[in-house]
Amino acid sequence: MQSTHEPLVSIELLRRLDVPGPRYTSYPTADRFVEAFGPAQYERALRSRAEGAAGGAGAAPLSVYVHIPFCESVCYYCACNKVVTRDHTRSGPYLDALEREIALHVAVIGARQPVSQLHLGGGTPTFFNDAELSRLMQMLRGAFSIQTSAELSIEVDPRTADPQRLRHLAELGFNRLSFGAQDFDPTVQRAVHRVQSEESVRELLVAARELGFRSTNVDLIYGLPQQTADSFARTVKQVCDLRPDRIALYAYAHLPQRFKPQRRIDIALLPLASQKITMLSQAIDGFVRAGYVYIGMDHFALPDDSLAVAKRQGRLHRNFQGYSTQPDCDLIGLGVSAIGRIGATYSQNAKTLAEYNDALNQRQFPTVRGMELTRGDLLRRAVIMALMCQGRVEFESIAVAHLVSFEQTFAAELDTLRTLQVSGLVEVQADAIEVTALGWYFVRSIAMVFDRHLQADRAREHFSRVI
Ligand code: SF4
Repeated sequence: MQSTHEPLVSIELLRRLDVPGPRYTSYPTADRFVEAFGPAQYERALRSRAEGAAGGAGAAPLSVYVHIPFCESVCYYCACNKVVTRDHTRSGPYLDALEREIALHVAVIGARQPVSQLHLGGGTPTFFNDAELSRLMQMLRGAFSIQTSAELSIEVDPRTADPQRLRHLAELGFNRLSFGAQDFDPTVQRAVHRVQSEESVRELLVAARELGFRSTNVDLIYGLPQQTADSFARTVKQVCDLRPDRIALYAYAHLPQRFKPQRRIDIALLPLASQKITMLSQAIDGFVRAGYVYIGMDHFALPDDSLAVAKRQGRLHRNFQGYSTQPDCDLIGLGVSAIGRIGATYSQNAKTLAEYNDALNQRQFPTVRGMELTRGDLLRRAVIMALMCQGRVEFESIAVAHLVSFEQTFAAELDTLRTLQVSGLVEVQADAIEVTALGWYFVRSIAMVFDRHLQADRAREHFSRVI
């Protein structure tokens, strides 16, 4: 499918500015976490949250993430933390471990803490059968007070679900579903070892609507083996016809040294960088012309979806799942490799089941990495999140909240932004930075200007090249 009009975002700009970089689901990003932050530090952060709540501040609602690592078969593009197995007897012991981890939290922060957001991710959460998912929800509802207005979302692998399963998820209280589609082309699906029909996704989306789910999301990936600009444009068209409330579009990054399953991908079948840019440009065009609103980064939503409404009203937030309508709140991450955010700390659980289980068997939090944010990190996080979520940073509000002069602290960054201003991505005003409509497509590049860790790396790289 070749477009006959000018693309909304020029291929030249995408080539120049769509550079790989962090997705800023946190700042600092998870690769900055250190091993010096362990179970004791995590427990201390939880304890000061509990003391703050008891001291009159009241407990702010929590967000909870549960990682279910099991997958029945491996997708070759996978970069997630997962355990590939067809042995479903592994679910029971994993649920036992989650129960122990939940109990450790309750012992520190107290029972029935309010929860406004729950997300089940993986791996494949629907690896659990209906009874196992019921048990998990029972454990969570027993330990936390999940608010009636809470967002309850779950990632659904269409190969492991049917309308009957969705009905069960609705009965458990889930109100948002995210389906992994990636690409509908059978040749691409075979090349990545993930074969599922468009029909199965359509059937699930229809059922989700009938069952009253508040929002549905479909994930796509461009840059996969055997994909061409034409084949991906067909997938984009098919997804637009399915009309999910939200679409997430991710770029495939081929890093076989880091992610073992990717070694099974024949590099000769990967599209060229120039083809990937065309796919991205055509996808943006396809979604926007089909009526989707560009939210930022990888996300599109229908105009009446709560994410699009939040963007219009300047109420977007960003958490480890991407954009969200929920105000910033503490996040408890449960399960192997899960990431949490408590107060001014980030933490991550053990990445292997053995290490995760060992810690819990010793009645210890399975935290293996994390960090305490410095004042400088908190300042930069506020700037980066304001750019990513509101598309505007008011110097005065940052100055008041962080007791700094914005112009003095960020003189070098403001200089760098002026080059992005020439490309039409931002406007540096006397008292604010404003991301332009075009700039939203490159908001990651704008945010990167304020990432102290990234800039330090670049300076080091430059330094080592120079010498
Ligand atoms: S992409 Fe998802 S379903 Fe596929 S192997 Fe990775 S975690 Fe499992």
